Amino acid sequence: MSAPDRYAVIGHPVSHSRSPFIHARFAAQTGQNLTYDTIDAAPADFDAVVRDFFAQGGRGLNVTIPHKEAAARFAAELTPRARRAGAVNTLALRNDGSVLGDNTDGAGLARDMVNNHGISIAGRRVLLLGAGGAARGVLAPLLGLKPSQLTIVNRTVERAQELVQAFSDMGHLSALAYSQLDNQPWDIVINATAASLSGELPALPPGIVSARSICYDLAYGRHETAFVRWAHERGVARAMDGLGMLVEQAAESFHLWRGVRPDTRSVLSELAAELRR
Ligand code: NAP
Repeated sequence: MSAPDRYAVIGHPVSHSRSPFIHARFAAQTGQNLTYDTIDAAPADFDAVVRDFFAQGGRGLNVTIPHKEAAARFAAELTPRARRAGAVNTLALRNDGSVLGDNTDGAGLARDMVNNHGISIAGRRVLLLGAGGAARGVLAPLLGLKPSQLTIVNRTVERAQELVQAFSDMGHLSALAYSQLDNQPWDIVINATAASLSGELPALPPGIVSARSICYDLAYGRHETAFVRWAHERGVARAMDGLGMLVEQAAESFHLWRGVRPDTRSVLSELAAELRR
């Protein structure tokens, strides 16, 4: 058998990444001959490390914090969705030796919400918390699902306003500061802030959700995230974390690299069990 094709996730730090677990399961399931490692690279070393990885025969990389913008600059060409996001989470070596940059985060969120959780976004009022890299990455796929309204709320309101300008051609978008949120409940509230990572919550008035609201946190972890806990305490219809998005964005990358789509459901349950262990 020929040598396995090499893939990896590059980040800083990266040892916590679940991507090697996920891609090893995808490879076994689809019979693909590949290895998938982690590469820790400081921001100053990103370009040199990535250039070396591909020069040594590497076939593809996932890119995580803090390198997603640097990866967008590194790629010779960007897919339209990566260009819109201004960030790349997937690099793929092409046959001509050039490197393509893609962003599969938004598609991962949309697939998880729609296919795994059966959430319908069309015609619903959606509130998006946060205006960082992840929010930018998920905006186009979310708007593609045709919500009646999508409002971005951010601590630094100027960043939310910038996103509204950049994506206003795609749907009904507006920007708010947290202090401008009134007590009208939203159908769907998506947390794309980094607050959950430190166990914090954005400044949310309780009335933004009702018993019919659905809450989705892009963050995930061993325990319930602060936002998911907040949502459950307010008696929302459903609240979930972003573990499914993680598996779905990985599946999109795998499909780009290998041309086959793995079954995500079994890998998601294995990963959830592994996290709880
Ligand atoms: P980022 O670019 O650093 O953006 C952080 C955002 O969070 C900004 O809007 C920031 O507001 C806001 N924020 C941070 N702390 C806050 C607090 N205490 N209160 C209110 N707002 C706060 O980070 P990112 O890359 O967008 O990542 C955001 C989250 O998405 C992270 O939890 C990450 O793990 C998650 N994510 C998950 C997946 C997945 O596959 N499930 C994929 C990508 C990202 P300011 O602009 O005012 O600073």
